[in-house]
Amino acid sequence: MIEPASNCFESLKAGGMLPSPQGVALAVLELTQKHDASIQTLTHLVQTDPAMSGRILRYANAVHGGSLRHIASLPHAIVFLGLFRVRQIALGFSLIDHYRSGACKAFDYLGYWTASLATGIAAQQVSERAQCPPDESFTCGLLSGVGRLALATAFPLDYGGLLLENLPDLALREQETQRFGLDHAALSAELLQDWGLPEIFHQAVRYHELPTEAPFAAGSRSQALTSALHFAAKVGALLNLDAAQRWERVPSLYHAAAQIGLEDHQVPPLVESVVGHWQDWGRELHLPTRDVSDIKLLLGLPPDPVQDENLSALVVLPMRVALVTSNAEHLRALAETLDAMGLNVELATERDSALRLLSEKRPDMMMVELPDAGDVSVQTLRELRGGEAGRQTYCIAMIPPEAEAGVARLMLAGASDYLLLNYSEAALLARLHSAQRVVALQGAVRSERESVIRSSSEWARSNRRLLQEALTDPLTKLHNRRYGLDRFAQEWSFSAHSGAPLSCLMLDIDHFKRVNDHYGHEIGDLVLSQIASVVERTCRKADVVFRFGGEEFCVVGPSTSLADAIHLGERIVRGVRGERFGELGKRFAVTLSIGVATRTASDIDLEALLARADKALYSAKKDGRDRVVAARGGDASVVDKA
Ligand code: GH3
Ligand code: MG
Ligand code: MG
Repeated sequence: MIEPASNCFESLKAGGMLPSPQGVALAVLELTQKHDASIQTLTHLVQTDPAMSGRILRYANAVHGGSLRHIASLPHAIVFLGLFRVRQIALGFSLIDHYRSGACKAFDYLGYWTASLATGIAAQQVSERAQCPPDESFTCGLLSGVGRLALATAFPLDYGGLLLENLPDLALREQETQRFGLDHAALSAELLQDWGLPEIFHQAVRYHELPTEAPFAAGSRSQALTSALHFAAKVGALLNLDAAQRWERVPSLYHAAAQIGLEDHQVPPLVESVVGHWQDWGRELHLPTRDVSDIKLLLGLPPDPVQDENLSALVVLPMRVALVTSNAEHLRALAETLDAMGLNVELATERDSALRLLSEKRPDMMMVELPDAGDVSVQTLRELRGGEAGRQTYCIAMIPPEAEAGVARLMLAGASDYLLLNYSEAALLARLHSAQRVVALQGAVRSERESVIRSSSEWARSNRRLLQEALTDPLTKLHNRRYGLDRFAQEWSFSAHSGAPLSCLMLDIDHFKRVNDHYGHEIGDLVLSQIASVVERTCRKADVVFRFGGEEFCVVGPSTSLADAIHLGERIVRGVRGERFGELGKRFAVTLSIGVATRTASDIDLEALLARADKALYSAKKDGRDRVVAARGGDASVVDKA
């Protein structure tokens, strides 16, 4: 009988067999689990480990991405990141440092971390689609496969044996459950939970390998994070493979990208950017990163779509054959035979026309006459097979019988097969048959790859539209309330942990009922969306602007003090006051009122902050509208009638 996964986890943990953070990282984890942990204590603790201090500094600067001035001191970095994030970083880096090798011979520890690092970076790059702050996405990606490391650590011999069976993913997970009571995905989730990471992380990690099986509502944050991790893990796996194995993984990468609304043309630059960061961080963490010079080519978009209309024709004779010879007379008989067989034959008698023929006509196969197996012949073959078109074209070297001894050289130079110039009909037919098999197979693989890529990019568009629709207000095209409050909650949590200020502005259009009454509801709708775009334009990039409901909007200002928020409010009020709204030729003035509040220690949750902003808005209305009122502490005071 199989024990429930959680019992297995508890007994593994009790046996002390699982990976765990060590040294300073462990102390950081313990300290930050206490409610009264202070930034000072944490700073002192981290300072005892210079490597960790350096990484935290580097990380803080990487995360803010140059949007602020450079963060030069550790206490600053810790304040910027907040206790919560420092803990995640310490955890991740400590595990990398302490589990670089181990007793499980079949487990590639460094490869595991290399792939995990790429996964973390990829998750960070798609954090917006994961609906998760970038650094949290990073941790989640970095640790998404930690169950594998844990199994290798806890059961080095048994798990090593299992790995040597080279099972496909699903079968591996089944075997893991049978032998160890839980599979690596479940174990990753248990570990993350045990380390105190948020529930949404362990849920996403548990399901990210098979996101279709996740029990999350479409469009929910859990689903978004799960699908983003799914994609990130594909990137991680792809980068950690040998070049020869990468090719066949590409379609599934595009597929996963589509699930988070990434179109095919967005994938190559994203992967390239992951590669850049991956190499930087790899050096920093002394993890070997692989040669990825083929990535660009690998992710290249599929060839001209006109091609695939003929792909079914590739499967049957007649093939299109290019005959390359220095003298057309030499191959005249061959050309006639092939023609009589119904093959489509084209002739080229010099190098340039042969290359042009290959790239323009894209024959399925070329037959190249060579005088011998010498250097010039080798060079000719290399040139013909070197280009993009030539590489995809099956190539038969036609040689005189006395050159047969050197045929291996020709094969190494790019010939797929050879035929003697004094061929028999049977030999010719045999060569053509085997060429046809290979050409048909290549065609099938290529068309499958293209159809996967194409259908996933259509799917990406529709997914992205659905995602966008689920989070966008259809009238004003601003974010909707659901998205806005979700983001508000994230910013709240960041602010609460880091102590960074957080402001909230409630906006309400003045006398909007009159607009409707006077000009009609349709014009009312138009004005509403015009005002929304003035508000959005006036706000900064980092502000979260959303339609709160009816003719009310809300702006959340991360890292924004009360004074800055009042400033922003004034800009919005002035901006709206200065515009005219409605139909062309019949425009009129409209104003709005704004209530502003900034998080204080007495706000127990974001509703409390919202309520104070709303109260300030009420005062703005009562005091005559078209103005900003700020809530100071418990009450509200007028600050602007600019
Ligand atoms: P105040 O200055 O006190 O805010 O006055 P007001 O008229 O704006 O406030 P009130 O809350 O009395 O009315 C809000 C109006 O906004 C009533 C409602 O019909 C209108 N409204 C809300 N949503 C929409 C919408 O989507 N389109 C249109 N055209 N009108 C809307
Ligand atoms: Mg209102
Ligand atoms: Mg109003």
